[in-house]
Amino acid sequence: MKEKQHPEDICTHGGEDYTSYHGAMVPPIFQNSLFVQDKKHPFDPENFVYTRMSNPTLQVAEKKLAELENAEAGLVFSSGMAAISSGIMSFVSSGDHIVCVENVYGPTREFLEQYLHKFNISVSFVKGVCPGDFESALQPNTYLIYLESPSSFTMHMQDLTEVAKIATRNNIFTMIDNTWATPLYQNPINLGIDLVAHTASKYLGGHSDIVAGVLLGSKKHLDSIQLRERALFGSVMDPHQAWLLIRGLRTLPIRLQQHQQNALKIAEFLEQQPTVDCVLYPGLSSHPQYELGKRQMSGYSGLMSFVLKGSADRVDIFIQQLGVFQLACSWGGFESLVIPIGRGMEQDMREKLGIHPNLIRIHVGLESLDTLVNDLKQALEKCIE
Ligand SMILES: *Cc1c(COP(=O)(O)O)cnc(C)c1O
Repeated sequence: MKEKQHPEDICTHGGEDYTSYHGAMVPPIFQNSLFVQDKKHPFDPENFVYTRMSNPTLQVAEKKLAELENAEAGLVFSSGMAAISSGIMSFVSSGDHIVCVENVYGPTREFLEQYLHKFNISVSFVKGVCPGDFESALQPNTYLIYLESPSSFTMHMQDLTEVAKIATRNNIFTMIDNTWATPLYQNPINLGIDLVAHTASKYLGGHSDIVAGVLLGSKKHLDSIQLRERALFGSVMDPHQAWLLIRGLRTLPIRLQQHQQNALKIAEFLEQQPTVDCVLYPGLSSHPQYELGKRQMSGYSGLMSFVLKGSADRVDIFIQQLGVFQLACSWGGFESLVIPIGRGMEQDMREKLGIHPNLIRIHVGLESLDTLVNDLKQALEKCIE
């Protein structure tokens, strides 16, 4: 394992080379689809050819992200789902079986459960809080274990080191959605995981102005994804998106510090409110997997859930009362958001996932802590029955 550089240094300067761009402090946007070839050495594999394959602006983002994740290589995609579906497709063939965590991101679940079904690829969902959950779900044709830790609704975690060991023992590949923790606070490749996906639409971009994704892993694997899944599905990132992503990454460490600081205080505040039943946040010592989180992550981000006490209409009252927290589905940007996870889900799915009907997810943004606490406080006061 190579020694990781300081993430602040990677975010500011990693993957950049001023001499290639006339000394420009910020790499330009290579807004071109094709690249002229040297007629004496046409299509040298070292040359850029066509932006669906690669582009210098994309490469800066890819190098920065690979360094941050301590991966050999990275590839950027037009969305998080493009990265996730391409990554999964790169592993499996018709007839294979996948084991996946139950509380996975909704569209990932839909891709695994419904879309891959037509290629005769089956999937078993497991709770995943004990490594044994994965072992017991293995079948002779299991080829991939898919993880998301922490998950983005219930903040369940998987023991990455132990799951990687089980996978290695059984010749199975592992892939993780590492969006919650970001490459700053969790590096699954160091723990033995094969392929890491992030949506860059959340913290990596950080400004709620791009939809983007990334895969990080071994050079051999990503070279193959670049030529096959990314080139053939055409799910490459646009150079302008890459440029915005590079800009977002420069402030990732300091943004995350502020998200974490605000979120820890807000989680503690919520835990003490008489109208709150429980708070799900890996940074709280009351989280059932607090010790595991401390072991495999070096920090916490701003996403948490809590259960509001009382009847279901309390959730609507709470959300309507909020002034600063806006109702929206995404997270990881500068702004504070709220979404009633439990209210938005069909009852049978909710029961399957063990999600309480009054489960509310909040994303703690970069506003002042006072403003956020006051907003929550006044809204919770209206929820007393
Ligand atoms: C938003 C999200 C995705 C999907 O990312 P897109 O960029 O919207 O495609 C994947 N995983 C998690 C955990 C997410 O929150």
